[in-house]
Amino acid sequence: MNKGIGTKCVQDGYTPGNGEPRQIPIIQSTTFKYSTSQEMGKLFDLEASGYFYTRLQNPTNDYVAAKIASLEGGTAAMLTSSGQAANFYAVFNIASCGDHIISSSTIYGGTYNLFAVTMKKMGIEFTFVSPHATDEELDAAFRPNTKAVFGETIANPALTVLDIERFADAAHRHGVPLIIDNTFATPVHCRPFEWGADIVTHSTTKYMDGHGAGVGGCIVDSGRFDWLSHADKYPGLCEPDDSYHGVTYAERFGKEGAYITKATVQLMRDFGSIQSPQNAYLLNLGLESLHVRMRRHADNGLAVARFLEGHDRIAWVKYCGLEGDENYELAQKYLPEGSCGVVSFGVKGGRAAAEEFMAKLRIAAIETHVADARTCCLHPASSTHRQMNDEELVAAGVGPDLVRLSCGLEDAEDLIADIAQALE
Ligand SMILES: *Cc1c(COP(=O)(O)O)cnc(C)c1O
Repeated sequence: MNKGIGTKCVQDGYTPGNGEPRQIPIIQSTTFKYSTSQEMGKLFDLEASGYFYTRLQNPTNDYVAAKIASLEGGTAAMLTSSGQAANFYAVFNIASCGDHIISSSTIYGGTYNLFAVTMKKMGIEFTFVSPHATDEELDAAFRPNTKAVFGETIANPALTVLDIERFADAAHRHGVPLIIDNTFATPVHCRPFEWGADIVTHSTTKYMDGHGAGVGGCIVDSGRFDWLSHADKYPGLCEPDDSYHGVTYAERFGKEGAYITKATVQLMRDFGSIQSPQNAYLLNLGLESLHVRMRRHADNGLAVARFLEGHDRIAWVKYCGLEGDENYELAQKYLPEGSCGVVSFGVKGGRAAAEEFMAKLRIAAIETHVADARTCCLHPASSTHRQMNDEELVAAGVGPDLVRLSCGLEDAEDLIADIAQALE
């Protein structure tokens, strides 16, 4: 049955049988029971599938992962303990020491640190390119050891919109997958697989949870990238894994299952950043209303952006839904039904004026958070992006005067009145 995105938000992932709980059960158990060692042994050899230890897999998590896979139109998904873990696993699953990744320069500050500092120490090199790089510039960034291209649909906090189709084409010309962090758009407003992306990641902490209740992440596979036809690049998927008696993931689990199976049975087994079943349950409550909330977030974001645009104390406004925004055309293509609730702007008077303005807000609270039901705001240059020097800040699209306002689900008139009084 061909269901709409709203029906999928509410219904998919878990279908109870007669007499079973209507809401997804929280399987609060570290372990699972078997009658014979032989039965359990088959699980350890990946010859049978089943639960044995929650560090690898848990039924509650799997219900929720299946819902997110359905929302994105993917073949398999896995929940992680955070968005950071999701992006780390997504890349490390197909790259190791000596490899190279191309990433958009306008990405979340935490992801930038993960890539440019921590994964660099692991021997993986990153080249950062403009999200608006030309095809020639993209082609020039590839090396023989390049293993993936990475970007964000709507960048946090730069709010650039990635030309997903063009980045996917570039990645595929060079035989590598495109990984898209779709946190800000959510599958309600953009489904990157429909534009050629191969892997999607999420910080479910943001709109998917939507209530500031639980940190979490997710990785979804489109099931379309043909690892075996690029076997020389992806030995981890295309050659036997000694830690599982020589299973070759791409052969045993096919295009649809190899990537997430490897991430689960190898990376999750070894690094252990599993989401707790309690948090997965809370995440699912958020997902049930995601389609309703995203519309309201985007409506509020647009109303606030329009108000700011016309105010004489505001130096500039960035919101891809505003006509005249440099990302407006791309937003029309990739986000035709709306983008998100996050608006960036500069208050005239720079860094000091921005801080003074934020202190005077009454509804919007200063928080290291976005995409919450409650409106919040942040000054990235003094918080999430403070590790960057001025040059890097500008390259990441985050000037020192930038205020990031995440419009919640309140009434737009109240948000605008709050901003107006703070500016006066
Ligand atoms: C917040 C965020 C992350 C990191 O997610 P956590 O859940 O905080 O670990 C990654 N990418 C984007 C776009 C984010 O907004």
